[in-house]
Amino acid sequence: MDQVRPAFSPAMAIGSMLEEAVARVLRASPMHENSGAPHGVLKTPICPDGRPDSKGKWPVRTLLPIEQWPSDRETLEEWASLRLDVHLGAMMPLTQMAWESNANRHGDWESLDASRIAEMGRNAISLHLDELKHLVDDSSLLCWQRLRDGVREQIPAPDGWSPDVELPPEVCSATGWLGAWFAGRPWFVDPDAALFSMTSIHPDAWFAGEFDFVYRWAEAPSIIDLKASDGTGDFGRGYPNQLTAYAWLWKETHDGQTPLSLRIWYLDGPHVKEVPIPDDMGFEAWAQQAEALHLRMFDSNRSISQFPAEPSAMVRFQPGGTDEVRTDEDRCTWCDARLLCEHGRSHVTWPDPPALDTGRWKTFDEFRSRWTAAGHAMSLSSLRDRWPEFSLKDDEGHQRVFVRQGGPEGLQEVDLGEYISISDVRVEPRYRGPVIIADDLSTLHRNPDPDLERVELNTFQMRYSIHGIAISLTSKLLEFDDGRTNPMWSVRLVDASGTCEAIAFGDDVPKIAPSIRRGDHLLMHGIWIGERFGKPQIRLDRSSSVMVI
Ligand code: SF4
Repeated sequence: MDQVRPAFSPAMAIGSMLEEAVARVLRASPMHENSGAPHGVLKTPICPDGRPDSKGKWPVRTLLPIEQWPSDRETLEEWASLRLDVHLGAMMPLTQMAWESNANRHGDWESLDASRIAEMGRNAISLHLDELKHLVDDSSLLCWQRLRDGVREQIPAPDGWSPDVELPPEVCSATGWLGAWFAGRPWFVDPDAALFSMTSIHPDAWFAGEFDFVYRWAEAPSIIDLKASDGTGDFGRGYPNQLTAYAWLWKETHDGQTPLSLRIWYLDGPHVKEVPIPDDMGFEAWAQQAEALHLRMFDSNRSISQFPAEPSAMVRFQPGGTDEVRTDEDRCTWCDARLLCEHGRSHVTWPDPPALDTGRWKTFDEFRSRWTAAGHAMSLSSLRDRWPEFSLKDDEGHQRVFVRQGGPEGLQEVDLGEYISISDVRVEPRYRGPVIIADDLSTLHRNPDPDLERVELNTFQMRYSIHGIAISLTSKLLEFDDGRTNPMWSVRLVDASGTCEAIAFGDDVPKIAPSIRRGDHLLMHGIWIGERFGKPQIRLDRSSSVMVI
């Protein structure tokens, strides 16, 4: 099944960029990294699986003159803010390019306020320093002794040094705010690691998640989730559950250790929201509910009717995710899934069909990809070829049948000239006209009814026109084991009757594909109807054309 991808808004792109920029600041050492050093000055060596490689070539780091070391909260915050500016300055244009090249981009990049983004990054640093204040105020905390002894966690926080090396003496002996920077550094995803390569996975593999910050300076960890917002939006309703999931995942993957605190840092403010930690029974109940849902969602016999659409009321919060209130807004009006969801489709004004009647327009519920072929079996010797084929002869002549995926059972026993039918064949265009494809989903019938409805290639209507709204796009370069590559582009379309995916490969990818956006009303002429996982799929080739209207 193709995936319906969510819209990719500038705010989403900025959220991940901001997290990465802050992680880059936290990974750095104020004793070794000049506040004006370039963005890429520190690079963690990465394994082929995308994770930090302890055996790789780690950067050699030179100690800065002691007078350049930050010595208190103010100078540390100033250094961190300058580092943040360097990273944001380098990352913003790259993030914009990535957003612009994303087929599912949505919204307007110009709507972003760069100064607000930088402010949110500074707020993250300030909240981090608030956390470090606990260490500055209490030199008896065990994390200080661990720093003195050079003891690192089994999975250390990314700090620019290989997990296998001893930390430099100047780091181990640091005190005050500078020492707290090292002793209190939280775990986070190394900003150089590949996407999702540092995800925590439940031992039973049915649940996974990626922590933002895990502070480990106290007797139990604090899990922090960063949000590039002020917490007033409807999304905030799900965040406490997300944090509970993280706490449960931590417990499950760390010998039953319960986190000390769960917090959401709303960086537009900033605001800190404390999320209550369930007791053991609460965790148990949460896990049972989550696992039951997982099993229902991934059951091979699941059906959409098991998940009836029951949209809840939209809510709003006060800044910081407090004081939830229901609003009158209709969730379906803004829902990304409304064009697909049975409930949401009634909220859509469908575009009128094009005025021109070519006699070839089809709505998605009229699509059919399987037919019945019949005739006298001829050219059976070609069934032994590498690409087996034979023909079915009738009054109109010979129809070529290509046999794929082994074809229907019993084909090898058919006698030359025997009248047969094959149900559930496909029809595909070829250079010399359409051909019949008999595959493992087709069924051979010997002694069939001679009057059965059958496909006639001479008159078969191969090409159609369709119109529909684009709701999800995919554009990628397929890479094969032999090193070859091939571009692929697909779009999920909806019309008033249903939904269908359209796909094109290589030179058949329409020239206007890069300019097609979610929500565009598309006209396609000269398409043919193939199949994927038993469902009709619109195929585009050189005879097809695509227009945005
Ligand atoms: S359109 Fe969206 S919000 Fe409305 S019922 Fe469907 S999935 Fe739920």
